[in-house]
Amino acid sequence: MAVYAAHLTRTLQGTPSVFQVVAQEALGGTVKPALRKLVEYVAAVYPNKCGWCERWYDELYLLLDCTLQYHYLKHYAASFSECFYGLFRVPISPSTEFSSGPRLPQNLERGSLALLVLVPYIREKVEKIVDKWREDLEDGRLGKSRADGARRAAVRVWSAVHFASAAGRLALLARYVSGRARAPTPALLLLGLALRDAPADPPDDTWADFSRALSAGHFAGAVVTFPMLWRACSALAQHGAFAVQLLRWWDARRPLALSHLPVPPPPQRAEAAAPNVCPLCRQRWRVPAVLPVSGYVFCYACARRHVRAAGACPVTRAPAAPADLRRLYVAA
Ligand SMILES: [Zn+2]
Repeated sequence: MAVYAAHLTRTLQGTPSVFQVVAQEALGGTVKPALRKLVEYVAAVYPNKCGWCERWYDELYLLLDCTLQYHYLKHYAASFSECFYGLFRVPISPSTEFSSGPRLPQNLERGSLALLVLVPYIREKVEKIVDKWREDLEDGRLGKSRADGARRAAVRVWSAVHFASAAGRLALLARYVSGRARAPTPALLLLGLALRDAPADPPDDTWADFSRALSAGHFAGAVVTFPMLWRACSALAQHGAFAVQLLRWWDARRPLALSHLPVPPPPQRAEAAAPNVCPLCRQRWRVPAVLPVSGYVFCYACARRHVRAAGACPVTRAPAAPADLRRLYVAA
């Protein structure tokens, strides 16, 4: 602990690189979608027992994230992903220390928890609502009523806020790289915190002692203590998160080039019998768009919603991404 405390007073020497900062943010943002994939799979296999997990996933994750981040903030003065990259939170001014020593004071602990867990949860919920309004707007479903006008304004305001926050984040990161800012992210700046490289752990020879005692035949001396188990579990969780990130990267790779996929079969007579109809909503196309991978034409909004969720053509199930959709401009 003395080494830990001494580390607090270090100046710029222990400042983490921008790569560490960006990588830990990326890791933090990866866990939720990766776990969602797992929950979706379990819910698909056991729909009766586990279907509710998928419906309440956001709230379940909020609970898990809250517990996890609270634990890391309390014990390591860092978020889960910061701890994974060997960072911890210190006061922004290098000359000051927390009155609570290496631990975060309670108000900063609560503030950190709110900005790490609650704010992203609320932002995601708002984003979902605004996305729905944006789709309605693009689809021409917003009328002239006052409520629809407010929705239209909300979509514009949200886009502006999104742009401003991304620009602010980038500007702060640029200032951090040039050494003019000490907090690399707006959340840390708001809390008056900076990041530092954590000191190396003292050599952990307890598991080595355990195996030495076992190999020497001293079974009475081979004891597994609770801290040993806890350290093993948290190492497993941290490396598991990295494996999950790797899997997600694998999953997110572009599936196949269009030319590698089989040519779609010519349409059957039955399909030709219902022209200008979206296969998803069974109504006349609103803003027609084609998925080149299969050649089917849908309403733009219907297809985008489906492809974003399923990653495949709704009819042929050929792999597709929302970016593959092409608007069709049909001459009257
Ligand atoms: Zn449709």
